[in-house]
Amino acid sequence: MDRIAGGVGGGLLAVFNLLRRLASEEDVPVFLVGGPVRDSVLDVPPHDLDFVLVGDAPVLATDVADKLGGRVIAHSRFGTATVVVEGGHVDIVTVRKESYPFPGSLPETSPSELADDLARRDFSINAMALPLSGVAPNVIDPHGGLQDLANGSVSIMHPGSFTDDPTRMLRAVRYEQRLGFKIAESTLSDLQRSITEGHIAAVSGDRWRQEFQKIFAEDNAPQMLVRAMDLGILQGIHPAMTDGRSVTSLIGQSDVHSSHFLAALASGMSAVGGESVCERLNLPSDWARVVRDTIALQGLMSAISAPTAKTSEICRSLDGLETEAIEASARFTSEPLVSENLRRYLNEWRNVRPSLSGDDLLAMGVPSGSGIGEILREVHSAILDGLVSNEAEQRALVDEIISRGNWSSEMAE
Ligand code: ATP
Repeated sequence: MDRIAGGVGGGLLAVFNLLRRLASEEDVPVFLVGGPVRDSVLDVPPHDLDFVLVGDAPVLATDVADKLGGRVIAHSRFGTATVVVEGGHVDIVTVRKESYPFPGSLPETSPSELADDLARRDFSINAMALPLSGVAPNVIDPHGGLQDLANGSVSIMHPGSFTDDPTRMLRAVRYEQRLGFKIAESTLSDLQRSITEGHIAAVSGDRWRQEFQKIFAEDNAPQMLVRAMDLGILQGIHPAMTDGRSVTSLIGQSDVHSSHFLAALASGMSAVGGESVCERLNLPSDWARVVRDTIALQGLMSAISAPTAKTSEICRSLDGLETEAIEASARFTSEPLVSENLRRYLNEWRNVRPSLSGDDLLAMGVPSGSGIGEILREVHSAILDGLVSNEAEQRALVDEIISRGNWSSEMAE
């Protein structure tokens, strides 16, 4: 109890203390469940608080919010509610049991007892509950979660678990790598059998994408992706996800964004493979662009690193590509010169603008029309290539182009 209370602050602590009081003084059957129980046993600060109630969760949530001046988002049909308080939110859920109409489907839920609620969970280490009544309550641990925590083991709770819900495969890897645990032998064989039997295909792209997003937000995301690749999970989701070199090179890097992990996964794919992955995971358009542009960038690598490549040419090939695809490629490319050029593009070159405007060119005697744009582009390229710098030099270049005459056709050559 103290570890939990010490690990959260502000509004979350107020909700925790109020629920403890309601449990102790009014016998409200409310329990802390899942991640926060696991984390408090491991003595790591919980990152959120999840509660279950044997009763009507939206009603309790409303009471809590009224008392603490918070707000409730309730889904009465599902018996779930979120209490939003200063500094965060907590979920309170009516205990439920689940059944799977067919493998890989979303579960159907119905109200139930605490034991059923714990039995529906993914791993023993997530299937523990802490009663909130009393000073030092015992952890309710029907599936050997404490033992698995002590052994550093991620174990499913029944043999058909991965078949019921194959997203648990990525979840197993996520907990294993996050906690420095090992997936238990028997769990690993079940996982592999479920892959071989093709159950991964039954899960929608949206559900897989959500699990990827959770991985991308973790500190050890690259290790998780590499492990998921080694186990054949990613290949099961889509056969194009087999090249782990870029992901591996992100290990140990800081400030890596979600989109960079996506780009790293995409970097070894063909354009056709990338499109097919976008479809399989039902990627939103901004993420799909990251995939496409990362793959397009791979085709530009030799041009970007050619010793004879002009800066203006490099810029022209990169203009219009997603910034995140360029940032990601700079992180994972094995070519130092490519990395340097991509970073310089992002930090300097793409911000370069001629000092002269179209009006300046008109004032210098260039007739209005497409020639204005062409001359400005030539000035821009000359700045990037270090041929001119200040405004006087830019004007001199424009004069030279004007005196050359017929620039429009020259530029087209
Ligand atoms: P943490 O376990 O640290 O809270 P998280 O916030 O990523 O990690 P969620 O994905 O929000 O975890 O899941 C919260 C809890 O819900 C888990 O601890 C687990 O008990 C349960 N859970 C989530 N997804 C599943 C699933 N696919 N099958 C069974 N139980 C699940």
